[in-house]
Amino acid sequence: MKIAIVGGGPGGYIAAIRAAQLGAEVTLIERGRLGGTCLNVGCIPTKCLLHSAELMEMIREQGPKIGVEAPEVKVNFPQIIAHKNEVSDRLVGGVAGLMKANRVKTVTGEACFTAPRKLTVTREDGTKETVTADAIILATGSVNAAPPIPGLAENPDCIDSTGALSLEKLPETMVVVGGGVIGVELACAYAGFGTEVKVVEAMDHVLPMLDGDLTKVGLAHMKKMGIEFHLSTPVRSFEKTENGVRVNCERNGEPVAFEAEKVLVAIGRKPNTGSLNLDAGGVKHERGAILVNDRMETNVPGVYAIGDCVKGYAQLAHTASAMGEVAAENIMGQEAHYDERTNPTCVYMEPEAASVGLTEEQAKAKGIDYKVGTFPMAANGKALILNGGEGLVKIIAGAKYGEVLGMHIIGPRATDLIVEGALAIDLEATVDELVETIHSHPTVSETMREAALDVMGRTLNM
Ligand code: FAD
Repeated sequence: MKIAIVGGGPGGYIAAIRAAQLGAEVTLIERGRLGGTCLNVGCIPTKCLLHSAELMEMIREQGPKIGVEAPEVKVNFPQIIAHKNEVSDRLVGGVAGLMKANRVKTVTGEACFTAPRKLTVTREDGTKETVTADAIILATGSVNAAPPIPGLAENPDCIDSTGALSLEKLPETMVVVGGGVIGVELACAYAGFGTEVKVVEAMDHVLPMLDGDLTKVGLAHMKKMGIEFHLSTPVRSFEKTENGVRVNCERNGEPVAFEAEKVLVAIGRKPNTGSLNLDAGGVKHERGAILVNDRMETNVPGVYAIGDCVKGYAQLAHTASAMGEVAAENIMGQEAHYDERTNPTCVYMEPEAASVGLTEEQAKAKGIDYKVGTFPMAANGKALILNGGEGLVKIIAGAKYGEVLGMHIIGPRATDLIVEGALAIDLEATVDELVETIHSHPTVSETMREAALDVMGRTLNM
């Protein structure tokens, strides 16, 4: 079986490995660097910046309290960027090694359909090659969406997330337009480095994907870090000023403006399918977002699509990889389905937040008969040591049987711990079963057992 995969991000390269493991002859076509958005300008670079910022904040804020005194904590911004590049390069090199080890042929160039199931690849030097395959997987990811706001396109101090990850100099002031995950994470990173950060958001809340109780804790911490939030404040235009950009907004019908050296516009991402000529391939899409079923099949037999370029799923690296495995297995004759229920959402702000399954708001909206259990990080020894006990765990469980419907964590190591919730949902575990499982001490994971106990009305440590 010959498979051609377009896009070498976490969707495409994982699909390539899985297909090769199952015996396929795989060609991976990538026009840029292997690793896609995730390794080059997404997950990994942002976490590098956030780690440096968190370390600084920890030394500055927590240090004196825990007996670590470093009165002169300084930011070496070029080194922060250099470290980010080093980590990214290393991981991209690792993907190249994995392709070789799995005998995946990589082709550097841009692929597009010239007919249904027929791809042409244009190399950097302009030469073209036709790729034929028994099956094709489209994994071309997404790009930053630039809203048609006057003054945006022509202003070089208005940057997107990619620009914010490769600045040469630390800005003194920054306005972040958009209170979604990317905007909030980068706001935290820059605020941690000492930049004065203001977040401007058109809606009346930030981080809409999180349970409201988690957002409250996160917002309180970010405000303590000095980040200003301006909600219900849509941006109307950008204007160049002597020192940067003026962001003209509206609040309650009145004009309001903010000025900053750099403006980060993080208002979402759109599918990166413009170069594919989907119409020539006969592949159905809605404004570039490819339509797929839960086997990752498009409307064209033998053509699959995965990751950020498909319609209706969370744009996350682990989503793309999970879909990549599903597509490869189906092509190779297995029966695999993508299951969104166990897909965690993580926000790597300070403290970290992570969520899987239903939020309380969603359970209410669906009319589900549910129970809630919570446990504060302040009552957990390890959390107290790590971050002073900021945060909480919240479990949503079915009222009758106690099956775990949702788990929501804000606090230290939340993004690692959430997998317990995902596993519980996958196994249809009940809170009794979480409680039966012995959790090691002292760990933050004990809060999850305690929250499960709270659903049953019998917490031990509170
Ligand atoms: P991509 O990673 O975008 O890869 C697509 C690849 O296809 C690219 O390399 C592109 O060059 C190539 N390509 C496109 N068109 C063609 C063509 N015609 N021919 C050949 N090649 C082509 N997700 C998380 O899970 N956790 C995070 O912490 C996280 N942080 C993020 C932070 C930022 C700032 C951003 C922007 C994103 C973040 N994401 C995060 C999202 C994550 O990066 C994406 O969900 C993930 O990379 C999607 O994987 P993909 O394989 O679908 O596409």
